[in-house]
Amino acid sequence: MDQKPMPEILHPEDAIVRVTRSCICGSDLHLYNGNVPDTRVGTTFGHEFTGIVEEVGSEVHKLKVGDHVLVPFNIACGKCSFCQQGLYGNCHESNPEATAVGGIFGYSHTAGGYDGGQAEYVRVPYANVSPTVIPPGMDVEDAVMLCDVVPTGYQAAEMGGIQPGDTVVVFGAGPVGIMAARCAWLFGAGRVIVIDNVDYRLEFVKNYAPAEVYNFDEIGDVVLFMKKATDWLGADVCIDAVGAEASGSIMHKLTGQALLQAGAATALHWAINSVKKGGIVSIVGVYGPTGNMVPIGNVVNKGITIRANQTGVKRLLPRLIEHVQSGVLNPKALITHRLPLEEVAEGYHIFSDKLDNCIKPVLIP
Ligand code: NAD
Ligand code: ZN
Repeated sequence: MDQKPMPEILHPEDAIVRVTRSCICGSDLHLYNGNVPDTRVGTTFGHEFTGIVEEVGSEVHKLKVGDHVLVPFNIACGKCSFCQQGLYGNCHESNPEATAVGGIFGYSHTAGGYDGGQAEYVRVPYANVSPTVIPPGMDVEDAVMLCDVVPTGYQAAEMGGIQPGDTVVVFGAGPVGIMAARCAWLFGAGRVIVIDNVDYRLEFVKNYAPAEVYNFDEIGDVVLFMKKATDWLGADVCIDAVGAEASGSIMHKLTGQALLQAGAATALHWAINSVKKGGIVSIVGVYGPTGNMVPIGNVVNKGITIRANQTGVKRLLPRLIEHVQSGVLNPKALITHRLPLEEVAEGYHIFSDKLDNCIKPVLIP
């Protein structure tokens, strides 16, 4: 672990937060695996964190020193046209040079080059917008899951446009897929199926969501299996909660161009090919910027709607805080590992290699 200088207030709307909990996310694994362009050595990772406000800039009025806050992963100005539409993950002001994403804590210079929260202290820009005081009585482990996993799982289900009775198939039983499967019921799903090849994760989501689960290494042709399981019609909604590594889109480390792997069987292919005609594919899995081998012919011929985005956490927080407080969602149940910040490298190792039944690790500075 490296020592870095204390972050400083650089703008009147900044706050400095002393981190209390900081998770490692599947999105961090894309950085870890070298799949996000312009990830510079020395940048601090970490976009899911809670902390105590240590210092505030002169124009911060929403937070005060001593508040315990949860900090959504998006850095959002709250004023640009995208934030005004609720697209807090697509803020312009926090990352004006980008072609796509808004600012994100600890997520490379393509997401603004902001240092993240896998650290003792972090600078939080636009502190009046997204950071939220943890409601009294809420467990800090539930709160840290509201920074990303809960809203992303919920948005995955929401983008799926689930109608009452729908069959929903979730690809990926990581924290995000698990939460998407649980949230699918909130929208009225009639049947929820989860696909992965990590048995302990499937076992967890089977009980937690609950869901019907299948190991893709054991069911043969996944698309054929899904057709047979749905009267040959296909699923109403498919959710991709996997992203880049599984989808033949490994990026060239220097050029950022996708290295296409011909014929790669992928979660996104399976989602597109398993959904029924006219169905919806909701993508929350994170991909490199270009060329991810989408089977576009099948999208056109089946009349599929694809919906995708980085989660605009702030838009969803009020209702999700309620769902956590009422017990409808129990996100801290996903946290399997608690490590001191010094053991961050071990945390990445366990989470990435799926050791010791790891679902979600949290670092405690
Ligand atoms: P994770 O790495 O813990 O989970 C991914 C799971 O997918 C693993 O269990 C893995 O075994 C499984 N998998 C791999 N290949 C598969 C395949 N072909 N079919 C089915 N399952 C497969 O990650 P996570 O934290 O759950 O995040 C999941 C994805 O969501 C990542 O791509 C992450 O970057 C993304 N994400 C997006 C947002 C957003 O705002 N859109 C926010 C958070 C995370
Ligand atoms: Zn995350």
